[in-house]
Amino acid sequence: MKGTVCTVPKSCILSHQTASFSTIHPLPLNADEEFQSSDYILHLAACLLHELRLGEASRWYGYLQILPRSIVMIPTFWEVEELAGLDGAKALEWLRGTEGDKELRRKVGDGLGMAAIQEYYSAIQSFFPSTPSHPCPSPFSAYVYALSMVSTRAFVLDAYHTIGIIPFVDLFNHSSTSHTSLLCDQNVCPTCGSILACEHDLDLDAKLGSSDEPETPQRLAHLSVNYIQRPEAEGNNVDMCAERPIRAGEEIFSCYEEDVGDGKLLVEWGYVSGEQAGEGLTWSPRDVIRPNQVGLFMALLQSEKMAAAVEADRREEDLLPPIPTDPTRSVGKGVKPATSGTSPNSVTAPKLIAPASTKQFGLLNVTHNGLVSINLLIAMYLRTLPDSIDGDLDRIESDLVIVFNELEAAARHREMTLTSRNDNGLTKYKDDRQYTMKSGTSRLGHAVVRLVEERLEATFKPELSAEDLRMIHYALPTDAILQRTALVLAEDERRLLEVVKARWIPLLGGSV
Ligand SMILES: [Zn+2]
Repeated sequence: MKGTVCTVPKSCILSHQTASFSTIHPLPLNADEEFQSSDYILHLAACLLHELRLGEASRWYGYLQILPRSIVMIPTFWEVEELAGLDGAKALEWLRGTEGDKELRRKVGDGLGMAAIQEYYSAIQSFFPSTPSHPCPSPFSAYVYALSMVSTRAFVLDAYHTIGIIPFVDLFNHSSTSHTSLLCDQNVCPTCGSILACEHDLDLDAKLGSSDEPETPQRLAHLSVNYIQRPEAEGNNVDMCAERPIRAGEEIFSCYEEDVGDGKLLVEWGYVSGEQAGEGLTWSPRDVIRPNQVGLFMALLQSEKMAAAVEADRREEDLLPPIPTDPTRSVGKGVKPATSGTSPNSVTAPKLIAPASTKQFGLLNVTHNGLVSINLLIAMYLRTLPDSIDGDLDRIESDLVIVFNELEAAARHREMTLTSRNDNGLTKYKDDRQYTMKSGTSRLGHAVVRLVEERLEATFKPELSAEDLRMIHYALPTDAILQRTALVLAEDERRLLEVVKARWIPLLGGSV
């Protein structure tokens, strides 16, 4: 089947525009004022709580009956003992130093940390009117419940609703290889939600300056005439559309966010997929790039020579052997093999370098295949240069091309010695000499290993291996749900760090 999976009229959306709480305590709408997304999220949770308190008198009573009964324990709530108990506290420890930890800190920065949530609820608690089913104020945990529903089920919609919960559409589970996409016309009037030209457009256009087509408001100017003039009923919907065929009986997945990794999935939606989607391990430019080298780094990011050096290398990708990962680990949870094709006599080394992320410019990362991105290598290389370097772009570019070539040559050399050892038996090397690198290459190699070691040291119990973490995970009681979830993420990331170390340390003459 292909086509529209479901269509929901926008009038069914639960948002700050439609919820009855907004008439009691509105989110002040001022076009000149910039709202943080946290304002909308915290307010929508209050709207939902009010609808829950209204019981059968709520417009959404029927829909609200299908919501989960308990709080979805996203990591933001793990620190609250009354909500998450000891399991939450211990799970937070396992999260330390992971991508999940980074996402959690981002949420605090975005105004959605526990302290901000508590402060918000104390400020608005008195606005909730008594209802027949809820004559008393709701406890904080009731607001946390509503917030967990909003966090895990609301979508970013249009200029009018901003964010909202769409009945039915919120039922789909996420997959990085989803079947569907959500279509929602965003070019609506921010004041009344109309998809057609409306009375508010005159004011809006007066503010923005005159339009080339005076009869068409600016917000619709880039759209075709047919699109603008379609009947209101045809456009004022949210559509869930199939993007690929769906077999009978198959679960239909939606995509909460394109290529989202487990760290963000956990923090935003409260679970990990083990799908190895997303950008792998990431580093903040602040932590890696020296302030006086930012300009040089930016210039190198845009250098065609850099991109070409990695591209040439990628042509051999089909010959990649899989990375050395734990063979006993179950499918779907391990680090993805770089490719499926491998030949035992292949002398093509495991690659070390990944091209730059196409989704995020300048991203510093190690991919799920254990490849260090060219951006991260450039940043690390700059870090190995003396502070007094004159910043000659051409020279650094040429040096980096040599460094990249040397790294690949060293990896190939090592692969050859390993291959001949396998051919000749266990003890003899055909060539056990270390590949000799120039000092710049070797310094970069050591810097990469140090970066990975620092990342490991920032985690909880860094002395343990990924395998140890797996054993701890298996030994946990089944009700230690939060710890088990955090450990999946911690184990996956640790295994990735181990893979990088296992590839780079031998190139530098060390053993893992
Ligand atoms: Zn309007």
